[in-house]
Amino acid sequence: MGEGVGEARMSAEVLLEETLIKRSQQKKRTSPLNYKERLFVLTKSRLTYYDGRAEKRFRRGSIELSRIRCVEIVKNGGGVIPCQNKYPFQVVYDTNTLYVFAPSHDSRSLWVQSLKEEIKDNPMVLTKFHPQFWQEGAWLCCRQAEKQAPGCEEYNLFGDISRKPLPPIPGEECKDKRRRCRPPLPPTPVDGDDGDDDGEDDDDDDDDEVVVALYDFPGTEPHDLSLVRGGEYVILEKCDVNWYKARNKYGEEGYIPSNYVTEKSSGSLVQFPWYSKQVNRNKAEELLRKEDKEGAFIVRDSSTPGTYTVSLYTKSAAGEGGSSIKHYHIKETQGSSPQFYLAEKHLFSSIPDLIEYHKHNAAGLVARLRYPVGKQDKSAPSTAGFSYEKWEINPSELTFMKELGSGQYGLVRLGKWRAQHKVAIKAIKEGAMYEEDFIEEAKVMMKLSHPKLVQLYGVCSQQRPIYIVTEFMEHGCLLNFLRQRRGSFSLGSLLSICLDVSEGMEYLESNGFIHRDLAARNCLVNEALVVKVSDFGMARYVLDNQYTSSSGVKFPVKWSPPEVFNFCKYSSMSDVWSYGVLMWEVFTEGRMPFEQHQNHEVVTLVTQGHRLYRPKMATPTIYDAMQLCWQERPEDRPSFSELCMMISDALEADTPPPN
Ligand code: ADP
Repeated sequence: MGEGVGEARMSAEVLLEETLIKRSQQKKRTSPLNYKERLFVLTKSRLTYYDGRAEKRFRRGSIELSRIRCVEIVKNGGGVIPCQNKYPFQVVYDTNTLYVFAPSHDSRSLWVQSLKEEIKDNPMVLTKFHPQFWQEGAWLCCRQAEKQAPGCEEYNLFGDISRKPLPPIPGEECKDKRRRCRPPLPPTPVDGDDGDDDGEDDDDDDDDEVVVALYDFPGTEPHDLSLVRGGEYVILEKCDVNWYKARNKYGEEGYIPSNYVTEKSSGSLVQFPWYSKQVNRNKAEELLRKEDKEGAFIVRDSSTPGTYTVSLYTKSAAGEGGSSIKHYHIKETQGSSPQFYLAEKHLFSSIPDLIEYHKHNAAGLVARLRYPVGKQDKSAPSTAGFSYEKWEINPSELTFMKELGSGQYGLVRLGKWRAQHKVAIKAIKEGAMYEEDFIEEAKVMMKLSHPKLVQLYGVCSQQRPIYIVTEFMEHGCLLNFLRQRRGSFSLGSLLSICLDVSEGMEYLESNGFIHRDLAARNCLVNEALVVKVSDFGMARYVLDNQYTSSSGVKFPVKWSPPEVFNFCKYSSMSDVWSYGVLMWEVFTEGRMPFEQHQNHEVVTLVTQGHRLYRPKMATPTIYDAMQLCWQERPEDRPSFSELCMMISDALEADTPPPN
């Protein structure tokens, strides 16, 4: 939360506050369902949800508790839950039902029980309710097609059915623990509501969902829809997480990559070239130094959620080779319509206005904001394949350029797809891979799409050798990157490498996907110095005993936990062990683990309880994190989401506050 006093805090005592996901209410039978993160705030009188911060201008809906007739978990009946939070509950008020998705079982229990407690004296409580979703014109529990049809199960306001075990939902175990339920905030004086709140759910989420394109998308197949940066599009269908069906202003329809658009909401900065969402202080400094231009700047998220920092580079500073970087918090005035400022006396009603002004006037800053730096104005992110459901690539559309390296499977070359997209093309040596199994799995792997994973674009499987086409990463493999730049890394830049990898791995973990060969040699670095995880799951297709058998000379024993080198028992927890070794590689700037020992000796050493030593550059906290990864019992190791938290905390501790 920002410095300002949140609306909810001002008006009443907050009982619960947490970011949950809300499903749109599908008032029109045909309107597509959508799922949005909302900050839910429960007070003694209302359940209110906000887009971002608990302030009036971000409020999207509010329900008076006196109108609530039922609060209960939703039984999913084994269906797929199309958002990352897998624990749904329902709030029935008047004649509407609101579906909310909590990140964990405990979070949902807390919300359901707290709401039940608050509504227990309500006069209109239901006697029967619908335990499952209303979806596409029917209740999934009783198949009744009338939304107002009476419930089909007894409602017990005082029970807690969430304590009963429910059918497991795939992927629900590993949730983002960073989104923890915050403790209730202290009561603050009542400051009066301005009375325009009619108690209705005033969310506009059910109207057509309009998005804005962040990048151009040329639309590579006839069924695609081209995007023009800044253009507006209506979402018609969310086909899968990576591809939506959309309509442009001319009425043309087609598929678009979901990561190329952003919700059209007034507060969103994502559409501006100067804003970089996932850039921390260290990365900002690295990018600015690389650009080395007077007035280069980045607007990024501050470590305090919901607030922003401008990082600005100047070459005219004394000392430090004449250049320096300043970080300015974008401050906000208090009150119902806050204004933004960087330097006192220059107030603006929006952040874009503020940036526009300082592009022309330094007005207290070390320089004016001359050059926006960031990834967004240059390269668009990878799409999950080149088009919706397209995994086969026509080899005649590939051109080959220089060699990038060679590995277990053969030669990797830089190339271009349709003469414009740079790609890496791996030609698979004959007899090196279980090709058919891989080609089948490639369809699944292409759907794995995350900014910290090297994207698989597709395969050329109709020829020999087969080609695997992936995202091109300018700086090549992380291990060489570390070795070639020894002595030049700050603590922050090493942590930032670890954070990138942990984020990619957290995504794999949450999708139930095991890497099996995580190591610095299997991560790649791109032009913007983002580190991404590569070759995930590929170890399963290697046709080489020396690599696959734990006694083989190529088996990654030094990255493997005991349950892997003894019993080949792979899991996300075995990936965590490997991640600890990768952290060690990062903090030694690319040394070989157990340098003096051969694989069979490492097996003995690790079995006896020996572990890698603390690298000089690793602080005790960082070494603690590594050691947690090397707990003998897999269940004692942290999850990747916990590791992400530890690393971001360490990064924050290493970061001095903004000027
Ligand atoms: P294999 O999977 O066959 O063992 P690797 O994936 O390790 O092969 O690739 C071998 C080398 O090729 C890497 O060390 C790296 O230098 C280069 N390389 C591989 N993929 C890419 C890529 N996507 N972008 C840039 N270089 C790459």
